[in-house]
Amino acid sequence: MPVSPWADKWDAAVGRPDTVVVANGDEGDPGSYADRLLMEEDPERVLAGLALACFACGARRGIVLVRSEYPKAMARLRQEVERATEAGDLALSAEEAGPRPFVEIVEGAGSYVAGEETALIARLEGARGCARPRPPYPTDHGLWDMPTVVNNVETLAAVPWIVAHGGASYARRGVPHETGTKLVCLSERFARPGAYEAELGTPVGEIVTRFGGGLKDGGEPVALQIGGPLGGFLAGTALDVPLTTAALAEHGAALGHAGMVAFDTAVDPHALLRHIWEFAADESCGACSPCRIGTRRGLALARGRTGPGESYEQLARLMGEASLCAFGRRVPAAVRSLARAYGPSLEAWDR
Ligand code: SF4
Repeated sequence: MPVSPWADKWDAAVGRPDTVVVANGDEGDPGSYADRLLMEEDPERVLAGLALACFACGARRGIVLVRSEYPKAMARLRQEVERATEAGDLALSAEEAGPRPFVEIVEGAGSYVAGEETALIARLEGARGCARPRPPYPTDHGLWDMPTVVNNVETLAAVPWIVAHGGASYARRGVPHETGTKLVCLSERFARPGAYEAELGTPVGEIVTRFGGGLKDGGEPVALQIGGPLGGFLAGTALDVPLTTAALAEHGAALGHAGMVAFDTAVDPHALLRHIWEFAADESCGACSPCRIGTRRGLALARGRTGPGESYEQLARLMGEASLCAFGRRVPAAVRSLARAYGPSLEAWDR
């Protein structure tokens, strides 16, 4: 049976004193709101998943970090922690914690990069939400140097079902090396926008038509962005790709949070290109120069009239290979996938 990356994290931290489990609810991808819905509509399930993760790792302390723009989610989670503590399902304090963990709800740092796990830990320590070099990995030296497991909210929300029904039942969903389901958020351009639970491996085109009902007013998708601004783009004519990390990577895209934003003929691809670079330059935390300088240089090139020029290839390679975290490394790949989705009009950026 395939082992998931989150099982690896749990394994790495299990039996280590002072382990902390953090639920990452700092959902920053524009176009993705699955974690918000889970925290607002089913906080009990999110906290049950966190408590089970703590139990599995032997952690006495759990934290939910909630995006600062999600006040309703924060309030619902705090209410639920209070209720569960009164009911005796959670500990009253870190000192009293044992098999029942002590759980805190903490507000995020208000930036995209603060959702990256080392940046998230920096935020929890009261520092600026910037990524840190790895190794050391958080499961060895994380929050206040304690072993720290960071799982996202959607992952933890799946745990109670898996515990109740068994891992084999969950693994029957999806495809052999990527099992289970994914919450997919469809943007307002779809005929039926919303969040849908899809089995991993479902063809992207089927999600667009069966769940989303195609585009509003019978529009044709020219390109589809998956996984947020730095996830990647698929051409509207190539949506037979299965919804898996591996298949999307073969097409230069990334699964990420699996939010899908559709673009029709009304959207200017050059405006999209500028938007990616603007987003990257605005959200770069500035901790490493390939990303800090590269995003600004890329934005200047995208705003110019002469195209990216010969030196862009070197810039893209430097950002892709030398940026400290996945944010900087993903920017050139996202630009490349946009260029491939739109073909001749952006081919100079396909590097
Ligand atoms: S790649 Fe960008 S976001 Fe990541 S640490 Fe470097 S500057 Fe910060």
